[in-house]
Amino acid sequence: MKRVLTGVALGALAVAVWGVMITPNESVAQVKNFDITWIDTEGGAATLMVTPGGDSFLIDTGYPDADRDAKRIFAAAQKAGLSKIDHVLISHFHGDHVGNAAELAHRIPIRHYVDHGPYTDEMQPGRDAAFLSYLPVREHAHVTVAKPGDRIPVEGLDVQVVSSAGETIKEPMAGAPGAGAPNPLCREAKLKEQDPTPENFESVGIVVRYGGFRLVDLGDLTWNQEHALACPNNLVGTMTVFHTTRHGDPHAGAPQFVDAIRARVAVMNNGERKGGSPEYWQTVHDAPGLEDFWQIHRSAAGGADHNSPEQFLANINETDHGHYIKMSVRADGSFVMTNERTGFTKEYPARGKAQ
Ligand SMILES: [Zn+2]
Repeated sequence: MKRVLTGVALGALAVAVWGVMITPNESVAQVKNFDITWIDTEGGAATLMVTPGGDSFLIDTGYPDADRDAKRIFAAAQKAGLSKIDHVLISHFHGDHVGNAAELAHRIPIRHYVDHGPYTDEMQPGRDAAFLSYLPVREHAHVTVAKPGDRIPVEGLDVQVVSSAGETIKEPMAGAPGAGAPNPLCREAKLKEQDPTPENFESVGIVVRYGGFRLVDLGDLTWNQEHALACPNNLVGTMTVFHTTRHGDPHAGAPQFVDAIRARVAVMNNGERKGGSPEYWQTVHDAPGLEDFWQIHRSAAGGADHNSPEQFLANINETDHGHYIKMSVRADGSFVMTNERTGFTKEYPARGKAQ
């Protein structure tokens, strides 16, 4: 009898301990968000996405500047608790995007690569080094060549390819808010001459959807290709986040695209002296519906009039390097953004169906 009582007492104790362990606070802490980190690569590109279920998706790998950017990406991956990266998208093969792919592959296992396929346009001495460093990794990896309309299988997200190898989608994205609507901005729209860097034209562009949240990242696509996605009908629909095309360089940033997507927030992966042109900045700043314009760096060219307030700048001068911008998206569509340099955060409440 005594032993039975002891057993009951232990059982009661266990229930009590278990009860203490599952406090309301703790269960709240266990709710995971969809996290996006824009890593500073000093004017290159590297954006890490981690889903609530733990699937990870990296877009671009920064510059081939020794192993600086691979270290920064690895640090962000560690912070997110990753032991591998599930999908790496190489938007195109310029050094500021593919640059540290090989260095990164030495640091962390990468399960799957996506790129636009064969590199032919700029195989010339001085421009091909970054691509050639990626080739040996690519040869031994699981690689998918993206085509417009394809999906990148990141679990928990809907990631759709809208451009690749010079082609763009021709039909409106199915089920996307505002997709297929005639775009009145096309009547006055300007086109630009094709710039002399054909590899940018090949960029893999994507739209990422998480519930009602939508983000577009077109890599370094050109102005005229943005036009093709927005005119005469807006094929991609409206967005929550605009990851600015081409680092804010005026070879992209066509207002007929930027205005039509009606993003709430823009994030520019510029460097202090890379991208961030005043003309582009003004277009984004003036875009209808835009609430805030976050920048990885203060732009030297932007001066006093074409930079966002300092709380939205992750790195403000030559002495600032490596500070990132983080966004954490909740299941209800609300999100919070953080400037890692200062700890400044801003909440963005969920919008209704019109988001
Ligand atoms: Zn670039």
